[in-house]
Amino acid sequence: MKIEAIYLDMDGVLADFVTASLGAACIPLTHKTVTEWDYFQQYMSEKEFWSRIDKCEGFWFNLKQYEWAGQLANFCRNIAPVIYCSSPSLNPDCASAKIQWLRENGLMGWNENNYILTKYKDHLASPTRVLIDDSPHNLQAFAAAGGIAIQFPQPWNTNIQSQLDDPFKHVQDHLINIIEKDEQPAIIRSFDTGATRNIDTNKLDFEGFLSPTVLESFAEYMHGHRTQKDGTVRDSDNWQKGIPIPVYMKSMFRHFFDVWKMHRGLKAFSPDDGHELTMEEGLNAMLFNVQGYQHEHLKQKTLSNA
Ligand SMILES: [Mg+2]
Repeated sequence: MKIEAIYLDMDGVLADFVTASLGAACIPLTHKTVTEWDYFQQYMSEKEFWSRIDKCEGFWFNLKQYEWAGQLANFCRNIAPVIYCSSPSLNPDCASAKIQWLRENGLMGWNENNYILTKYKDHLASPTRVLIDDSPHNLQAFAAAGGIAIQFPQPWNTNIQSQLDDPFKHVQDHLINIIEKDEQPAIIRSFDTGATRNIDTNKLDFEGFLSPTVLESFAEYMHGHRTQKDGTVRDSDNWQKGIPIPVYMKSMFRHFFDVWKMHRGLKAFSPDDGHELTMEEGLNAMLFNVQGYQHEHLKQKTLSNA
């Protein structure tokens, strides 16, 4: 899946509407203590709340930008086209002030118009489009319409402290998770330290492909077989000096036979000292032979391509 577009909400994500509204409506709360979506309702009616905001000249244009706004917009732009998506208030001046705000705050160029002003954000939803928003209602509707909804953490939509401490990182991690399931081209991931790294889904993920417990068991098996009959210990990479592939094949077959017997509930015994084999031992013996055969096969392939 390729992300086709990211719809970035404005109020509560890029612009600090809440702090400004508390001042305009004289509500004795702070950004941190606003823990409900309709925080004004215990102090006044909805009509009164919006009326007080309307009386505040330049309210929408003067909203403060959150400290992460630029970083968030840039990060999103590296993934997909960003469209600012906001639901203006009933005041007709609000819509134009929002557009102006995006330009004045450096989030949208003077020759750009990448915004959609609507309360019906869910109409934009599709499985390849992402909405980043702080409104639980918008997110729910967008997801229900088949879009990818990412909640922007704020005190009024979550009490998970780690998300609130670094909301940008929370969103960043979400987006990276979406991309990593995909084969998008490399983008830049930034860390708290300021360091950056390319994300390239084409890189071989050894950490994910290999199992540490399997490799540890294999190393223990190999270590247990290092002592030779004359008491000397062979080098750990002795096998890489070269063992003929027919030897690997015959050994692999014998060990597979042991594993098969154990899988069927039968007992298998070592032909060397007669001890009863365990499944772990049998699988490690197979792994040794599979790896050895592959090693010789790749060696031959490299030589024939040289
Ligand atoms: Mg919002």
